[in-house]
Amino acid sequence: MRGVQKWYGEFQVLRDIDLEVAKGERIVICGPSGSGKSTLIRCLNSLEQYQQGSIMVDGIDLGGHAGNIQAVRAEVGMVFQQFNLFPHMTVLENCMLAPMKVRKVTRDRARELALKYLERVRIPDQADKYPAQLSGGQQQRVAIARALCMTPRIMLFDEPTSALDPEMVKEVLDTMIGLAQDGMTMLCVTHEMGFARSVADRVIFMDGGRIVEQAPPDTFFSNPRHERLREFLGQIL
Ligand code: ADP
Ligand code: MG
Repeated sequence: MRGVQKWYGEFQVLRDIDLEVAKGERIVICGPSGSGKSTLIRCLNSLEQYQQGSIMVDGIDLGGHAGNIQAVRAEVGMVFQQFNLFPHMTVLENCMLAPMKVRKVTRDRARELALKYLERVRIPDQADKYPAQLSGGQQQRVAIARALCMTPRIMLFDEPTSALDPEMVKEVLDTMIGLAQDGMTMLCVTHEMGFARSVADRVIFMDGGRIVEQAPPDTFFSNPRHERLREFLGQIL
């Protein structure tokens, strides 16, 4: 992202965002509510438009022609706070849909992929259930498996554990740690600072639509430079 600026009407939500993420890098983004974290990562798969600056994702210019949006969404997996599973489809069908529609893989291949990734998130036995029959933690693991079925090169997470009961947070974080260990490029909006410490290469603090501070976790937590970050860490740690 270079010099990205975004407004909702009169309100500027992203200010001068410059961000470069290397292949295999794990980024954690934190900051107060309303600071623009969701908007930033939603821009990365064209769920939001921006007005100035440029964004390139894996060589695809998001300011380019409309076909690029489809291309980038195929490469970038996204996991939301509210799971966003299709309620009328089984777990297996949720996982098979996008590979068939977007990647045009056969039904057999889509099923194979779905079972592989449900195995990976350790819930292959839930394949024929509907989302409402699963716990929140299981639903979120299905959402991760569904994203992985597109074999994305980058995964975006927007507060994936915030809607979960406390006892289910760990199973989702463990799944994300597994992905990180496999070398996935990840941008995670989360306030799980234990996760940030153990997994992130870089932690980013946003406030008022800006990236205010970024550093490796050691420095970020032990030596925060900006007063606003110190306040923020004081509130959440
Ligand atoms: P965060 O994820 O850090 O809580 P968001 O990116 O969701 O922040 O939102 C940043 C700001 O933009 C908030 O003040 C929010 O109210 C505003 N905002 C978000 N989405 C919209 C929208 N679709 N229209 C207008 N304002 C929005
Ligand atoms: Mg948000």
